[in-house]
Amino acid sequence: MVTKFVYMFSEGDASMRNLLGGKGANLAEMTKLGMPIPQGFTVTTEACNDYYDKGRVVDDGVIKGIEDGIEKLEAISNKKFGDKNNPLLVSVRSGSRASMPGMMDTVLNLGLNDASVEGLKNKTGNMKFAYDSYRRFIQMFADVVKEVNKEFFEEELVKMKELKGAASDMDLTGEDFKKLVSTFKKIYKEKTGADFPQEPKEQLMESITAVFRSWDNPRAIVYRRMHDIPSSWGTAVNVQMMVFGNMGDTCGTGVAFTRNPATGENLIFGEYLINAQGEDVVAGVRTPNPIAVLERDMPEVYKEFMDITTNLENHYQDMQDVEFTIENKKLYFLQTRNGKRTAQAALKIAVDLVAEGMVTEEEAIMKVDPKQLDQLLHPMFDVKVLDNATPVAKGLPASPGAAAGQVYFTAEAAKEAKDKRDERVILVRQETSPEDIEGMAAARGILTVRGGMTSHAAVVARGMGTCCVAGCGDIVVNEKEKYFTVGSYTVKEGDFISLDGTTGKVYIDDIKTVSPEISGDFATFMAWSDKIRTLKVRTNADTPKDAIKAVEFGAEGIGLTRTEHMFFNDTRITSVRKMILAETEEARRAALNELLPMQREDFIGIYEAMEEKPVTIRLLDPPLHEFLPQDEKSIVKIAKEMNVTVEKLKAKIESLHEFNPMMGHRGCRLAITFPEIAEMQGRAIIEAALEVKKTKGFNIIPEIMVPLAGEAREFKYVKDVITNVADTLIKESGIELDYMVGTMIEIPRAALLADEIAKEAAFFSFGTNDLTQMTFGFSRDDAGGFLDDYYTKQIYEFDPFAKLDQEGVGQLVKMAVEKGKSTRPNIKLGICGEHGGDPSSVDFCYRVGLHYVSCSPFRVPIARLAAAQSVLMNK
Ligand code: ADP
Ligand code: MG
Ligand code: MG
Repeated sequence: MVTKFVYMFSEGDASMRNLLGGKGANLAEMTKLGMPIPQGFTVTTEACNDYYDKGRVVDDGVIKGIEDGIEKLEAISNKKFGDKNNPLLVSVRSGSRASMPGMMDTVLNLGLNDASVEGLKNKTGNMKFAYDSYRRFIQMFADVVKEVNKEFFEEELVKMKELKGAASDMDLTGEDFKKLVSTFKKIYKEKTGADFPQEPKEQLMESITAVFRSWDNPRAIVYRRMHDIPSSWGTAVNVQMMVFGNMGDTCGTGVAFTRNPATGENLIFGEYLINAQGEDVVAGVRTPNPIAVLERDMPEVYKEFMDITTNLENHYQDMQDVEFTIENKKLYFLQTRNGKRTAQAALKIAVDLVAEGMVTEEEAIMKVDPKQLDQLLHPMFDVKVLDNATPVAKGLPASPGAAAGQVYFTAEAAKEAKDKRDERVILVRQETSPEDIEGMAAARGILTVRGGMTSHAAVVARGMGTCCVAGCGDIVVNEKEKYFTVGSYTVKEGDFISLDGTTGKVYIDDIKTVSPEISGDFATFMAWSDKIRTLKVRTNADTPKDAIKAVEFGAEGIGLTRTEHMFFNDTRITSVRKMILAETEEARRAALNELLPMQREDFIGIYEAMEEKPVTIRLLDPPLHEFLPQDEKSIVKIAKEMNVTVEKLKAKIESLHEFNPMMGHRGCRLAITFPEIAEMQGRAIIEAALEVKKTKGFNIIPEIMVPLAGEAREFKYVKDVITNVADTLIKESGIELDYMVGTMIEIPRAALLADEIAKEAAFFSFGTNDLTQMTFGFSRDDAGGFLDDYYTKQIYEFDPFAKLDQEGVGQLVKMAVEKGKSTRPNIKLGICGEHGGDPSSVDFCYRVGLHYVSCSPFRVPIARLAAAQSVLMNK
């Protein structure tokens, strides 16, 4: 059977998203609903995958399908492709399964050439329109298909406007545009070495192939990695008859959201431009009108528009983001999709949709992207400080939240400041474009001079949850010289400013930010999630303060307390160093005795903060050299403080040197050599629990975790050290206390022998950071340097330290779970690596049967929602 690679809009529907892409499937669905859609066809995602499978060659079957599609459009429209008198013009638009705004490129007005542009002119009697369309086409084709920088063309347009004293593009005349067309063709030839293609079929095939190619461009790859989109999905291509918003003042083009995408308020929210085409609104070339103006200017069109958008929202049962064009007072829809929204809006919409009876609680839960919740947990300005700050400028509140940081004017500089110097970065641009994506990701806040609420900067920032103020015309940016001015102020690269994405205000100050809390819609929504999920969510916390924060965010216990963080504290590090430098067990014990009361206090603090919630405490993990000084100056200083010779200290440092500390003397290996360390820690943990039981009456069951075990006898040795001291203490105290000793599974060998280890260990906690690096055989501190090459070459698609590698590392987890249960059916199972807060990894944990995930406090709500979605997805 021959594969069908091309579907007319009238042949598809919304359920065919995987094959037709989101845009194509929804255009088909709207066609089916009888809405005014310019007709067209979709070249499937399978055709794109086939193109890559064949080594970037378009199959004959695909070409044939496209030719048939064009013939059908000619029949529908009564126009002919490339015709001198009545030309059929089309757009070529990408559209993958998941929406990737701004990532792939569109070509409009395809089919125009030197002859057909005259046909269009004669038929419409509108020369300006015809040549405006042609110059746009040449520029888009050159940009998208031939990668000729838009700037070359834009410069000519600016020159022409200056020459003619035109304020905006549409003040130019037909003759002006005709001249521009011939200049543009010259530029095209100069940059590509070939004449601008006159044959429409060639224009079409080249454009479609360019869309296929763009699936693999670096921007698309970065975007996919950020949003968990596999490259195997491919993109579809839509070929659609043109409708024109640039034919005069009864024409226009716009975008709208059926509810406010920033706040979630149930009010239509849109913008449009009269006499404009395609991306003019988004690109911010002119400042658009709010949709309310349409009601005044074209009441009938407005009414139809409102009817259709309401129907669309009811049909999709979600807030819609639509594109429309008005051609001589006739309304057309060009796209609909579930609209991107801020986290705040997502929650309000979800809660409202349930209240309106449109969806169930379970359906509502599936509508919010867990990763987005992060936005709500991040800082807002401290109101008290804000009251005393005076804004210097105001733009559009394009993406909420607050950010303070240092200003950079290019994406590269922003990325470098973040990556290399870990600065808080604010990216300031005239306007952003898809090339800026990595700089935008590095920034805490984005400020642009041009563009509306639906500009590239606004849409992308909202998607990322980054605060953004757009269209801030008060400031004048000089990107070349790296400064901007506002009123009498000049702000240079590296200076501090603050942005409030919720109000649009800009401050020349480093304003303090404060943490938010969970209330209102957020609390309602999280309560629904908690009803459904079965996985427990714990947190990784080393201090009572972090623990309390996490409990506010809904943590049900601590999955990992790292004891070494406590060792770095100023007053303690000296005792730690004494312990390391000790030459006899006696001296070591003396130093450990100094540490004991401090550790006990730490644990008391944590137990009190967690009340009776479970707490897992991990024994000392890092190699000892990390506690000793490295540079000459500190060595001298510390030798003096410690009352030892510089030579002796240096000799010790030398003796602790390891070629690969990551795989060296660390974790429970330390306790094998120096059992007295584990003994002291075990004592502090138990004494603290006894103390809190006595004073507060909290019944605590400490979970003592032995890191890095790879062998049952090794684990048993350390466990015995702990049980000896623990049992004695408990007996002496006369208080009843349960405790557990378990291990982290973070060495592949531990997973392979999990049945043996589980005979001794009361619980497993998967330390997937180490397990990932040990399984891949690369260190997470070094891998960043070369993993980028793996992403670009599509060898790995995701960072395995951020998203659990379910195929490889996941097998070890699964095996350890099964083996562990085989010898200890009631073994307690959790995960404490970074993955515990990543939604797709949480889903994996649920599927393999872990009891809890543990993550950093700020990711607790993400994990709670992800765990609820997991239940619903696996039903
Ligand atoms: P993106 O995914 O970047 O939004 P689109 O393919 O949706 O790209 O198109 C970009 C712009 O061009 C949109 O404003 C869209 O409405 C407009 N457009 C696309 N196809 C047509 C068409 N056939 N007629 C008129 N405008 C179109
Ligand atoms: Mg685009
Ligand atoms: Mg679009």
